[in-house]
Amino acid sequence: MSNRLNFNIVGSGPTGILLSIALSKLDLNIYLTDFLTREQLIYQDKTYAITHSTRKILDKFRIWNKLKPYLYGFDKLSISDSVTSSFTTLNVSDLDKDISAENNIGWVVKHSDLMNVFFLELDNHSNIFFNTPQNISTEKFIFDYKFISTGANPINKKSFKFLYFRKSYNQSCLTFKVLLRGNLERCAYEIFREEGPLALLPLNKNLYQIIWTSSTSKSIDRLNTDKSFLMDNLSTILPDYFKLDEMIGEVNVFPVSLSLNLSIFNSKRFVFVGDSFHSFHPVGGQGLNTCWRDVNNIFDMLNEKSFISTDKLKFFKFKYYLNRFIDILFTLVITDSLITFFANRNYLLIPLRKISFILLNKKSFIRQIVLNQMTKSIIYKTIK
Ligand SMILES: Cc1cc2nc3c(=O)[nH]c(=O)nc-3n(C[C@H](O)[C@H](O)[C@H](O)COP(=O)(O)OP(=O)(O)OC[C@H]3O[C@@H](n4cnc5c(N)ncnc54)[C@H](O)[C@@H]3O)c2cc1C
Repeated sequence: MSNRLNFNIVGSGPTGILLSIALSKLDLNIYLTDFLTREQLIYQDKTYAITHSTRKILDKFRIWNKLKPYLYGFDKLSISDSVTSSFTTLNVSDLDKDISAENNIGWVVKHSDLMNVFFLELDNHSNIFFNTPQNISTEKFIFDYKFISTGANPINKKSFKFLYFRKSYNQSCLTFKVLLRGNLERCAYEIFREEGPLALLPLNKNLYQIIWTSSTSKSIDRLNTDKSFLMDNLSTILPDYFKLDEMIGEVNVFPVSLSLNLSIFNSKRFVFVGDSFHSFHPVGGQGLNTCWRDVNNIFDMLNEKSFISTDKLKFFKFKYYLNRFIDILFTLVITDSLITFFANRNYLLIPLRKISFILLNKKSFIRQIVLNQMTKSIIYKTIK
């Protein structure tokens, strides 16, 4: 045990914890830290959309089958533009052959179910030590490498020298669950609106997770209104065929931003992973899926053994940032373009928006490109 390298993963959100599980398969000691306790990390009211690239990654780390009982699959994705009254529905028949047998375009998972499965897996590995940062520093460890997975909040990173780019959308997302009638079964919805996109992710029968983007001030007003007023407000903007029954659980609000964080111009032994490396607008549900593709890349690089020595780890960050660059840039450009293009009432863009929906409805190859890119990402084939 004393000859093993000691790695510190700072931040035990879904990125940090999957990274610890992945790296525990190598001959390393993993010190995973967070300010929050195990219970606080598990019981958060969030929901994630999961793509086929993630299915392949979780399968590789032997988590997919354990998570399956908690996944809600959807086989239709309805996309509409409320400003131009255009819409299209993408189906499993639009998926590439290599993934169509799964019979799902994607899946939805509750944060608490996901983290429960992750923590149970963590318990099986004797080389992962989960602790608070305070406990770790009293042990005066010198770590061979650090992975910073502290999420999108920039305040946490003040002590490190890095290149930081951030774009604020001045938008926030309101999230809550509702019971809904009139919807298509196993269908996820993305409704582009002038104030921002509104996503409906299917959970249990008729139970939907709402992710409602608008200006931060409007989101805060809505957060502070009466629940029945909020439901009335939502029913006026949903298509007529939806009937809202009731709200379940709490209403939360999350700020949204686009950010990119590179620690490449210093020689310190750490890299950013997940949301602390990059964050995107939640349109299209790409955030966590991209974080886990970082984890996949780190595992592959360390699994080759070429970096498992204190000397060689010096060069780790250059290869890592280089490997991840194209996928992250692509996701960043696509999510940002969707917001620039569809979250407004710019009269010059309206004809283009109408044409894009006409093409999506008439040309199956365009539907296939859009859907497969969203769910597979450009690195799907490289996940082994
Ligand atoms: C409204 C909304 C909807 C979204 N929907 C989706 C979706 O459908 N699909 C999807 O893929 N993604 C989605 N995302 C994105 C997704 O939530 C994030 O990508 C994901 O949570 C990032 O995980 P993370 O572990 O990198 O960061 P976090 O989940 O933010 O975890 C960071 C952890 O680090 C800890 N921490 C912070 N500072 C320190 C410190 N100094 N020391 C120790 N610990 C520290 C925190 O306590 C926290 O536990 C959505 C985001 C938003 C805002």
